[in-house]
Amino acid sequence: MEMSEQPRSRRQTRAAILGHLLQSGGMFRPPLAKAVRLSEASLSRILFDLKAEGLIEEVRRPAPYVGGPTGLVSLDNSVALAAIELTAQRLSVGVGGLSGELHYTERLPLPKTPTVESVGRVFHDALQLLQDWTRRRRVRLSQIGIAIPGLGRSSVSDNPIIPCDVRLTRGVLGEMFAGVPVEFTNSVVAHATFHRCRTEDYPFTGTHLFVFVGQGVAGAWMEDPIEADALLPVELGHMVFGEGGPRCRCGHQGCVEAYTSLPALAELLGVPEPELLHLGAEWVNAIPISSRVRQELRRRLFRLGLAIGNTLNVKPCPAVAISGWPSLLAEEDRKALVEGIDACLLGGRKFAGVSLAFVPPSNGNDPNAALAFAAFCLACRGGMPAASVEAA
Ligand SMILES: [Zn+2]
Repeated sequence: MEMSEQPRSRRQTRAAILGHLLQSGGMFRPPLAKAVRLSEASLSRILFDLKAEGLIEEVRRPAPYVGGPTGLVSLDNSVALAAIELTAQRLSVGVGGLSGELHYTERLPLPKTPTVESVGRVFHDALQLLQDWTRRRRVRLSQIGIAIPGLGRSSVSDNPIIPCDVRLTRGVLGEMFAGVPVEFTNSVVAHATFHRCRTEDYPFTGTHLFVFVGQGVAGAWMEDPIEADALLPVELGHMVFGEGGPRCRCGHQGCVEAYTSLPALAELLGVPEPELLHLGAEWVNAIPISSRVRQELRRRLFRLGLAIGNTLNVKPCPAVAISGWPSLLAEEDRKALVEGIDACLLGGRKFAGVSLAFVPPSNGNDPNAALAFAAFCLACRGGMPAASVEAA
């Protein structure tokens, strides 16, 4: 008998199991049963199905429990997922497994001034490469995950950051990879999923806000366990601070993104953006920062803190994880960001009980975030064919 408070569909139960395995990397049966609120007998029946479908594997291992050895359950690495990630510089495509290793990666540069047509051609080339690679190796894809920066919630074809026709790409995918489930998402959601599933000792398990400071600045609401409809992007990067200020790529002036994105940071440091990208995490040691620039850097971090704090004022949340260049700074510099949150969060940060953690930047690792997102999509539909999900 199930021990859940409310009835769950077969899809939801399978999704809960796969989601926990994805986030943990592997679990013994007793704690897994507890985590998904199932009796060990019920769990056993579902694991039998998942194993028969090639979605999980199990190794007998001595476990630290009374009752001797039990099964260590993990996701089956023979499941093949395709990952496609669009960034400001390139389009990355890859094929990988459920535990995050990539077997194939190709990175296609975007033209200097991308248009809907030229980006469409790069997409077409990337999909052709993907089709050739999977056909030659007779690889059957179980899921395709695609991450697009700034992808809106309401209108899927409207993407002001990099011109790209999502509807058209979806159509091409449907023809080239008939029957393979395809999901598009905002890059911030993909990066949030990547960190939640792949960052060792990720600081939060419960509900929190994930903030990504890269080419743009954006957030995603994270729930536990992660569920498809609970992953919502939040455009906190386009919070405008008064009139004037630097022009943002969204067309407005004075957005927090125009002060704190990677391009804005490059300009402040007086370094060409490609050089900053090339340095990666090393830039903090490689680029000397004058005291004047450092002061301005802290002012901008404070502003980013205000944007995060105000987001929490609108939708209270107990924790915030911040990924991106601010994570690389010394604590003395990061303090400005924390003070910004404190300065506008209703009642202050301590009173509001908001925990903060910095996680490493994940920009430049494309298409790893899209791969994590593809694994997440497969887990969310319980590993079932897309068509049967509604019926389940
Ligand atoms: Zn903006």
